[in-house]
Formats: sequence, structure tokens, C-alpha cells
Amino acid sequence: MGTILLASNNAKKLAELRRVVESAGITGLVVLGLGDIDPYDEPVEDGATFDENALIKARAAAAVTGLPSLADDSGLTVDALNGMPGVLSARWSGGKGDDANNELLLAQLADVPTERRGAAFVSVCALVDPNGEDAVARGEWRGTVVTARRGANGFGYDPLFVPDDSVAAGRTSAELTAAEKDSLSHRGQALAKLVPALRALAVVN
Ligand code: IMP
Repeated sequence: MGTILLASNNAKKLAELRRVVESAGITGLVVLGLGDIDPYDEPVEDGATFDENALIKARAAAAVTGLPSLADDSGLTVDALNGMPGVLSARWSGGKGDDANNELLLAQLADVPTERRGAAFVSVCALVDPNGEDAVARGEWRGTVVTARRGANGFGYDPLFVPDDSVAAGRTSAELTAAEKDSLSHRGQALAKLVPALRALAVVN
């Protein structure tokens, strides 16, 4: 039986990671979250890129616990803001939380017309195995930032993001069901690419 640690303190993100890993149908893999282990001092996420930050988080977890550890670093990249908030997405309003982040983004885009409100959610998932090789995968989910919040599911900027996918039918990602979001999202795409590495962990460890 292998074990993997999902190294996220964001409860809603952790739930998404857990759902996607568990729904991949990998047998023989115990999935732990940070709540299942002794707390440790988390590293400062001071990388310039999603890749760097995902590796910082996964490496710290693997070093402390000795367990294969998976971390996601993600964010919203807005075309009209030259890719920002990007790696600063969680702290865009200075650490005041999701509501304030959404308000600030709406204010910044107040005069930007619909056709220039394109954006992408990006997720980079890093899997660090103390006894093996690191694996890093990226997912991108294109859409548009709308002018008013809609929906109560998901987290972060979900109430403002309408995916380009036709199945979303104009709903924001906060109006999608969990299963719909997982099947389309940046995080779902990144994790899907790591399924072979996760299967190998189940076999080897
Ligand atoms: P991280 O935990 O440092 O990777 O920060 C991720 C931040 O990006 C979150 O706090 C959200 O603001 C944003 N974000 C990432 N993924 C999503 C998503 O699936 N929906 C909405 N916001 C997201």
C-alpha cells in the first residue's frame, strides 16, 4: 500500500485535489492531507513562477514527512493585467481573502470591455518522491472574467470566471457542480497528467 501526502492548507483546494486523485481509481494508495499529520512550519512561497512555488511546497512536505508529497500552486492570469494576479492570486488584496480579491479584480477591470476580459486559471502540480524522481504537470483553463459574481460552489475567483467550454453554457465555475469543475479545470488537467506517476507510487511504496 502506498501513501501520498497532499500538501495544501487551503481546505477547498485540498478537497479538489483529494477528489481528483481518488476518482482516478488508483487502488492501493492512501491519500493524506496536512490535517492528518503533525503540523510543521510551512515554507515561504517566494518563487517567481507556479512551477517554483509548487516544488517549494512539495519538497518541504516530503523533507519533513519522508512521504511522497503533492502540492499545487495555482492562480488566475488575466490577459488585460498582463498575466496578473498570477502567482500573487491568493494575496492580491494584501491577504484580505477571497471576497476582497474578487472586489479588487472587478474594480481593476471596471472599464475593460467583454472582448478583452479573457483569462486563464493555471495549476502546476508537483509530485516529490523522496525515493524517486520529481514530476511536474501544468493545466490551463481559459475563460472570461464577468462583471458580477455568480454562484456559491468552488472558491477563490470561481464566482467571476466563465469557462470557454461550451458545456459550461455561460455559467461561472462557482455555478458548476464539483464533478463538472473537476472534469474541466486547470487542477483536474494537471492532475490527470500525474496519474501514471501516482499509479507507480501505489505499486512501489
Ligand atoms: P495558492 O494556494 O498559493 O496556490 O493560491 C491559489 C490562489 O489562486 C487561490 O487562493 C485562488 O485565489 C486562486 N485559485 C487557484 N485555483 C482556483 C480555482 O480553482 N478557483 C478559483 N480560484 C483559484
